[in-house]
Amino acid sequence: MYPELKPYVVLITGGASGLGLAAAHGFAKEGATIVIADLQEAAAKSVAQQLGSQHLGLACDVADEAQVNHVVDTVIKKYGRVDVLINCAGIADRVKPTVEQDMMHFRRLLDIHLTGTYMMTKACAVHMLKQGKGNVINISSIAGVIGLTYRNAYSAAKAGISMITRTLGCEWGAAGIRVNAIAPGYILTPLVQAIVDEGLLDKSVVERRTPMGHMGEPRHIADAMLFLASDQAAFITGVTLPVDGGYTSWGAPSDAYTGD
Ligand code: NAD
Repeated sequence: MYPELKPYVVLITGGASGLGLAAAHGFAKEGATIVIADLQEAAAKSVAQQLGSQHLGLACDVADEAQVNHVVDTVIKKYGRVDVLINCAGIADRVKPTVEQDMMHFRRLLDIHLTGTYMMTKACAVHMLKQGKGNVINISSIAGVIGLTYRNAYSAAKAGISMITRTLGCEWGAAGIRVNAIAPGYILTPLVQAIVDEGLLDKSVVERRTPMGHMGEPRHIADAMLFLASDQAAFITGVTLPVDGGYTSWGAPSDAYTGD
């Protein structure tokens, strides 16, 4: 669909599961070379192996600067370049009243989502600036746009990701590096399934609140990533694209979808 993506080296954090995994399959289908950097080393390696011998799976905690730098060094040593970075690693917030939340979790969540995105982008940008070309796709969330109670750390991290998407998109616009984000709505991945299974999220309530009447699928996000990385998005930078079935557009005091 996008032949220009074929020679690209695409580094995907959190690529062993969910949205990152869908991205790995989507970009591999376009012929790109995929590097998966994930906390789950075995899963990262197994996905890379399934995709084919040119791909690579690496262990990485994106909250650890030394590990982040090691991953980017490894990619550059092996492939000589990094064309697309997808910052997809993430964990869910603990859905608890604020006064019961603990600081360790708050800090860890910001470290993974916001600081992890920042450190990985910074490390890749050193090489993208030399290449005079590069593409960063961050994963924000509807939680970074609208107020969802109990989800302080997650929401603050996602809003922060959208803001560094703007600042970096502006800083590197003339240098050939585009930086964009996607704000997914509820997408049925292992992360969301776990929240549903724990009884913390009622799927039918989400469906009624979503104008399109259903949760999204990982491929919907992967399709938006492919578009943003492609030449079709050549003049788009610094934006957060909602891919949420209309969730954040809805403002009426009633269900958005009634099944009619
Ligand atoms: P997922 O749990 O299926 O996948 C997340 C992946 O990130 C896993 O493979 C996990 O091992 C990895 N990971 C977690 N912590 C890591 C760390 N410190 N370092 C490296 N890898 C780490 O979840 P998902 O639903 O695919 O979520 C991916 C991203 O999308 C997250 O940033 C999440 O906040 C965001 N998001 C998801 C939804 C949704 O509805 N699924 C909506 C909005 C935003």
